[in-house]
Amino acid sequence: MLKTFKLGGIHPEENKISKNSPIEEIEAPETAYILMNQNLGAPSVPVVSKGDKVKIGQLIAKGEAFISAFVHSPVSGTVAAVDTHVDATGYKRTAIIINKEGDEWVDGVDLSDKLNSKITASKEEILEIIKDSGIVGLGGATFPAHVKLMVPKDKKAEYLIVNGVECEPYLTSDYRLMLEKADEIVVGVRLLMKALDVPKAIIAIENNKPDAIEHMKNKTVSYPEILIEALKVKYPQGAEKQLIYSLLKREVPSGKLPIEVGCVVQNIGTTFAVYEAVQKNKPLIERIVTVTGKKVKKPSNFKVRIGTPVSTLIEKVGGIPEGSGKVISGGPMMGKSLADLNTPVVKGTSGIVIFDEKESKRNVTYNCIRCARCTDVCPMGLQPYLLSNAVENNAWDIAEKNKVMDCIECGSCHYTCPSNRPLVDNLRIGKAKVGEIIRNRKN
Ligand code: SF4
Ligand code: SF4
Repeated sequence: MLKTFKLGGIHPEENKISKNSPIEEIEAPETAYILMNQNLGAPSVPVVSKGDKVKIGQLIAKGEAFISAFVHSPVSGTVAAVDTHVDATGYKRTAIIINKEGDEWVDGVDLSDKLNSKITASKEEILEIIKDSGIVGLGGATFPAHVKLMVPKDKKAEYLIVNGVECEPYLTSDYRLMLEKADEIVVGVRLLMKALDVPKAIIAIENNKPDAIEHMKNKTVSYPEILIEALKVKYPQGAEKQLIYSLLKREVPSGKLPIEVGCVVQNIGTTFAVYEAVQKNKPLIERIVTVTGKKVKKPSNFKVRIGTPVSTLIEKVGGIPEGSGKVISGGPMMGKSLADLNTPVVKGTSGIVIFDEKESKRNVTYNCIRCARCTDVCPMGLQPYLLSNAVENNAWDIAEKNKVMDCIECGSCHYTCPSNRPLVDNLRIGKAKVGEIIRNRKN
């Protein structure tokens, strides 16, 4: 029987309508808007100024805090400004704006398609290159990859888990990468295993991608230390804690990280970026983005430079279809509705989904009928109706006691609620407030 996680979970309509569209590279933007808040943790700090000439792959911002990441120029040209630009939340944030001129790369980047499978870098060198290349979790979490790979002295990594689940409806960027760049991903897995010094890796893929499972199995026959595990389809299996339970029946304790149970999880896109950084000397300046929607003319998977406006991607798929309601950055379950299409692609942009009016409609909210469906589907074992109620009443002590901070914002409760309660909205508010209270208590 196929493995899956124990608590809760749902089966939303998959809508993987872009799955047969091969990855298409789109040209670099005439003006790139590179936000400084692209990673989880502290924003990056610009090291270039207006008027500076830059090349593709040149360092333009440093991650100075422990949890932060370097940023590199996605185009060659002139820095037009270090100013602000709108991000996915609709707020203006610090950004480096570069006008493109030519196509000049920094020295030493191998731009050929030739596979480089010979690993010569040491464990320390791999870690250093991953840090210097600005790689973050490309599944959307954007946690700096080098920090995840730094195993505390009192812990031991036993398994590298490579997340190819892509359980969010609509998104197909990891799926296409597995079909089109499997050899490179396998080298990326071997690099990550060396960096972590682990004897085993598991690439986890849900059973709705049988061709990707088969393909990855074929590509790993010579590597018995890399296991391909097909999982039963259930949302949100791509969440780290659920994935670890599905594969190994290990439970990451509340408030702890996967290393607590001997695991480090990296996403498929991140693993490919590690290959490009270490074997090709190429920093993270582009990513795969799915652009899709039920009425979209040409649902696609694009290789896109970071800093490309979302509006450019929408033009490439035939524009906003008539009768559209909203544009989501990320998947429909965990993504955010965009306030401004001038928002640029950032390292964490896994997809752009255009919802039609019907999908966009906010249904009328009714009183909670205490049906407990939200509790049944919560993969974290929480009581969403209780937490939501606590937030609405500013009862932060109750929210904290009932583990609001464990909420992974998967949206399963909201999806299931017959009264259309704004559960995730309230839980996000609760997490922000309780998080602040906890931080103040520590200081
Ligand atoms: S959004 Fe939070 S509370 Fe709701 S089901 Fe997911 S983890 Fe549970
Ligand atoms: S699913 Fe909705 S109506 Fe049912 S208990 Fe939860 S919040 Fe209340």
